[in-house]
Amino acid sequence: MARKSYFGKDAGRRPWRLSVKLLIASSVAAVIGFSAICTSVMFDMRRGEEELARQTLQNLASGVDADISRNIELYDLSLRAVASNLVMPQIKGVGKEIQHLILFDHAATARHFGVIQVFDAQGKLTHEAASLDPAPEDRSDEEYFQVHRSNPDVGLYMSRPMLHRSAYSIVLSRRINDSDGGFLGVVVGSIRFSYFHELFGRLTLTPGDTITVLRRDRMVIMRTPFDLDIVGKNLAERKNWNPANLQQGGSYAGVGPVDPTPRLYVRSANTSLFFVVVGKPLASILSLWYREVIRIGAVMVALILFVLGTTLFLAREIGRRAEAEEKLEELATTDALTGLKNRRKFDCEIDLEWRRATRNQTPVAVLMIDADHFKSYNDRFGHQAGDQVLVGIAICISDSVRRAGDCPARYGGEEFAVLLPGLSAVEALTVAETIRLKVEQWAEDPNVTTVSIGVASMTPTAAIDWSYLIEAADKALYAAKANGRNQSVVAAIPQLALVA
Ligand code: GH3
Ligand code: MG
Ligand code: MG
Repeated sequence: MARKSYFGKDAGRRPWRLSVKLLIASSVAAVIGFSAICTSVMFDMRRGEEELARQTLQNLASGVDADISRNIELYDLSLRAVASNLVMPQIKGVGKEIQHLILFDHAATARHFGVIQVFDAQGKLTHEAASLDPAPEDRSDEEYFQVHRSNPDVGLYMSRPMLHRSAYSIVLSRRINDSDGGFLGVVVGSIRFSYFHELFGRLTLTPGDTITVLRRDRMVIMRTPFDLDIVGKNLAERKNWNPANLQQGGSYAGVGPVDPTPRLYVRSANTSLFFVVVGKPLASILSLWYREVIRIGAVMVALILFVLGTTLFLAREIGRRAEAEEKLEELATTDALTGLKNRRKFDCEIDLEWRRATRNQTPVAVLMIDADHFKSYNDRFGHQAGDQVLVGIAICISDSVRRAGDCPARYGGEEFAVLLPGLSAVEALTVAETIRLKVEQWAEDPNVTTVSIGVASMTPTAAIDWSYLIEAADKALYAAKANGRNQSVVAAIPQLALVA
């Protein structure tokens, strides 16, 4: 039976270990909690930055889209006017100049708009806003001409970017129908690239920002930064910016179809002829955030190191102090000469065991051991040699009692006591004899050093004090001395049941 299981003594002996663990656990928990809060705040900040950038890009895309739409709309009004005036029956009977006036009176003539021209069903130039007598031109091979000829429902058609009348432009065209819907030709105008250059030039863009104007089929109409290799390319085949990952009015974060820089791209909500995609590099959107992360991260790491360092320092100090206290307690309860427990400790131990045995109704045995004729041994060999004998006896005693609950102690001068919880008188006598024989064997000369032992064992009751047991063992010891020494005597304890 292990003593610690009765009293939880070993568990209670090192309570500092628990407090050190608690200290470390609470510090680690604080560090984890603190880190979690900081991380969550930083991710919130990142979301905020991205949302702000998305809104800004959304506004930019809408603004660019609205400007282009307004100009196209304005230009389309002129094209419509020409297309409808041309089929008025009255126009056939008037002269060339009046015809010109009627057709092109309202024609928009802004700086970046090309000259409006009319081509007949064979693609031959018939009217031109800039001249009464235009030079002959044939546009029957042009895509816009063929599109209108083969399809009456195209409406306003936007061509791919092309060199038109010696300027890079986008050609806008409408079909001219007779009263039965038959093909009479096309009315054609153009918007020069200079318009886009001027529009983009008015905007404040940072390096890496992009604005791309795409036709509905995702052909690039215009882009800033300007690149002739990309303008006119159809991006429909490329996986980025497809309708699944970049919807109308939506956004897309990642690498775009043109260059490898990851950007936040936002698409305008336009569903008509074209749409606008504006992009800003993610690195520039998050540059402020990255700086904050590094700053807060550095402070966090420093704080964590400080807290952990302080915790480890405190834990070590608590451990050191507790160990010092333990050593001190060990010193206070140990006999300096023999290394056995001293009488004070023995009294504490017997007190605990006595109460436990009272509760459990188990026996407690005690051996009182006294060196025989020790005075004469001292006188003969000196006090120092006597001390060595006491150490030898102590070793013989400790060697004989090995159970965890047993407590051998130096009780006084050349007297020893052994507490044997749970042992009956017979069992205790066996232990006593073992000790006695060991001393006898060790000393070699029985006339010089032997021990006499008084043995007592009883099952305590609440009414009896443990000093009663000591007294009984003491009496048995006197009896052993009186009987001639070098022997063990069991105390007779009347009216008390000895456990055999
Ligand atoms: P007995 O017990 O057999 O009747 O004889 P005894 O000579 O042992 O008798 P007593 O108990 O009167 O003598 C005890 C002696 O033990 C007295 C003292 O010289 C010696 N003694 C007590 N403490 C120590 C100690 O710490 N060291 C040494 N060397 N001797 C001690
Ligand atoms: Mg004595
Ligand atoms: Mg003695």
